[in-house]
Amino acid sequence: MYPIQTIRNQFPILAQRVHNNPLVYFDNAATTQKPQCVIDAIVDSYTRTNANIHRGIHTLSQRSTDLYEQARARVQTFINAPHSREIIFTKGVTESLNLLAWSFGEKFIYEGDEIIVSAMEHHSNLVPWQMLCERKRATLRFIPFFKNGELDMETCKTLFNERTKLLSIAHVSNSLGTVNPLKEIIDMAHAHNVPVCVDGAQSIQHTAIDVQSLDCDFFAFSGHKIYAPTGIGVLWGKEQWLNELPPYQGGGGMIKTVSLAHTEYNELPFRFEAGTTNYVGAHALGVALEYVQSIGLAKIEQHENELLNCATQRLQEIDAVHIIGNARHKAGAISFIVDGAHPADVGMILDKKGIAIRTGTHCTEPVMQFYNISTTARISFGMYNTLDEVNFFADTLQKVVKMF
Ligand code: PLP
Repeated sequence: MYPIQTIRNQFPILAQRVHNNPLVYFDNAATTQKPQCVIDAIVDSYTRTNANIHRGIHTLSQRSTDLYEQARARVQTFINAPHSREIIFTKGVTESLNLLAWSFGEKFIYEGDEIIVSAMEHHSNLVPWQMLCERKRATLRFIPFFKNGELDMETCKTLFNERTKLLSIAHVSNSLGTVNPLKEIIDMAHAHNVPVCVDGAQSIQHTAIDVQSLDCDFFAFSGHKIYAPTGIGVLWGKEQWLNELPPYQGGGGMIKTVSLAHTEYNELPFRFEAGTTNYVGAHALGVALEYVQSIGLAKIEQHENELLNCATQRLQEIDAVHIIGNARHKAGAISFIVDGAHPADVGMILDKKGIAIRTGTHCTEPVMQFYNISTTARISFGMYNTLDEVNFFADTLQKVVKMF
């Protein structure tokens, strides 16, 4: 049995009412709510251990450093990375991908080189590569996708050539919910000696990640999408790649020695962690990952799939509702539009019933352009959502549709 009530009790925010209705939080792809243990970890850090890390010999600094490094080790186990020094703490996926685009670009990208992304990427996995291509006069190439939201893998095969230097791809699309065939893409890229970066923003919370069996070269995720605070995230990279990359930012912590004339850089991972990091956030991320592990991602995935299947079926039963993205393998999120109603109006009416959904482009404007729509409404699930909530949402949407 999935311990749904025990889980819900851990998330204090879920107990509140919004517009006098129980809160139904279906905006988990944007950010997730935090369990009490994560909130406690933050309060406890500032109440008992707070001190800057790595630079102090006093007790609090050492405690704080230990918590930070324990969190790194926790991330390592969570994604099955070979070494904890391959885990770089960042602000989140956006910073991880900007770091990679800058550092990888600086070292390996020359005029005329090519980088591959898909046409369904979040702006975070598109704009940094566009900026790099502009800076280096390189070319960005796109894996197209079909109307059903699945990647066109036949065309993908044709995109590689001797100028291809990197492929960066979302594991799960945040606007379509598509789970991309990651292993197939990675194997294909490696057959052409092309390294692969995975944007794991929408997969880390829904399915177990093993970077060694995936054999990707880089993997990025954000803490706030997996029940941890905002402002903390991870870039994992294979050590042999990270060792080749120049530091992204200069400052304290990333150096070994500095003179006025010259700086020698620190080892991994510190070389990529300039300045005071979000060490409290990192500790809380470690606690969040431990919490997720205590329930088990396999169980969470099964539960969320039930929610997804039920919601898909209920939405398909409403004639005026059209799901955007009908890939065979989906996770976490469903985008939809309603005939004759602007998604923002649908979202506002649902909010009056306590149901929090997201409306907009979901930072995937090219996806909206592909479907020739301006925005969608999107529901997305977390480990604490229930089938009752899905049914309440669908019943309410049915009434909303009649109003239009
Ligand atoms: N990539 C995907 C697929 C996302 O869904 C998001 C956030 O929604 C991001 C990247 C960016 O994540 P963050 O804003 O936490 O950096």
